[in-house]
Amino acid sequence: MIERLQALERRLAGHSKQEWVTQEIGKMRAGIRGESSLDYHLHFIKEDYYKLNSIRLLGGDYYFQMDCLLVNEKRIILIEVKHMDGELHYDDSSHQLLQVKDGCKKAYPDPLLQVKRQAHQLEKGIKTHSLPYIPIEPYVVFTHPSAILSSSHPRVFPSDYLPFKLNADNDQHCKSVWTEQEQHLFIKKCEQSHAPYSYDVFQRFQLKDDDLLQGVLCDNCSTVTMDKVYGGWKCSKCESFSKDAHFTAMKDYYLLIGDTISNQELRRFLRLKSRDTARQLMIDMNIKPIGRTRNIRWDLKSKFVQ
Ligand SMILES: [Zn+2]
Repeated sequence: MIERLQALERRLAGHSKQEWVTQEIGKMRAGIRGESSLDYHLHFIKEDYYKLNSIRLLGGDYYFQMDCLLVNEKRIILIEVKHMDGELHYDDSSHQLLQVKDGCKKAYPDPLLQVKRQAHQLEKGIKTHSLPYIPIEPYVVFTHPSAILSSSHPRVFPSDYLPFKLNADNDQHCKSVWTEQEQHLFIKKCEQSHAPYSYDVFQRFQLKDDDLLQGVLCDNCSTVTMDKVYGGWKCSKCESFSKDAHFTAMKDYYLLIGDTISNQELRRFLRLKSRDTARQLMIDMNIKPIGRTRNIRWDLKSKFVQ
């Protein structure tokens, strides 16, 4: 998904909605940074766990996404990761998370309620698969190193405290409730049912095909398209030359528009005049043709599959 948004960001250079897309990418990156910085602290947990990251499951009519699950035969630790900076105040009586940053105050929904809802849905899922009851412990951890957090709730704290909390609790949890097979079955079910988060970017950002910049974009100038010259592409502004700048353009097409392309569509998107040049580019990139001579389409998926 992040790759698709990055392609969209490139293709919206100079467009009024580019900023919005950039912000979405920033949020997604913060999530990824939060989860990887949590990994460091997880090394200090004494117990053995199987870790599942960013698992998104269907619970009833809606999907729910869990940032991090630690599973063993005694319990499941469900962690909501927040990678936010500034001053953060968690107030469990008003069920709000307040962030004060750069002089601005912003309220967010209660992250503990959120992770408790996930725990409830996960519990229902476990029942459906006829697995025995297992305690699920929800936590909210804050991973940003410069965040100043105030929280008096025992389940809401900075990430470096997590191993201490879990190691202390471990002494009270000495009974296994799942067999090794049951634990494996749970993990397998989670991985099989995982539905990666994805959405139609045109719908989400209210865009039309025409909003996208067409052509092969110059790496230096970003909004400027390059012209086809012998053996590669040349920027009309900075005059830089690239042998394979069309590669990124083709990938953008694949990520944003479709997984197959016709010669005509290719010429339009790359702003090429010659049918033969377009065809030769596909052959040189080792992109497989589908169908017969007149209606031939090129299978971008075979080249760019993620
Ligand atoms: Zn340029």
